[in-house]
Amino acid sequence: MRITCPLCGERDRREFYYRGAALAAPAEGDSPEVWHAHVHLRDNPAGPVEEWWYHQQGCGSWIRVRRDTASHEMLAAQLATSGEEG
Ligand SMILES: [Zn+2]
Repeated sequence: MRITCPLCGERDRREFYYRGAALAAPAEGDSPEVWHAHVHLRDNPAGPVEEWWYHQQGCGSWIRVRRDTASHEMLAAQLATSGEEG
């Protein structure tokens, strides 16, 4: 699988660290059930998903990737903005 880093170009997936799904965090005051669902429960879609990847062996950037889980096609990649990846 190849990932296109916006700064370095197309690279092998092994240069990257996979963090997980790019999901918006619940609000600070949300219930434990909402936080539980956010931390532990995931859908497993066959199709486009948003994910965080870190270019660990490259430029050190966090990248938000839109990837098709059925074909592994990279649909989009953009640099994370400050604090967005947390
Ligand atoms: Zn890079």
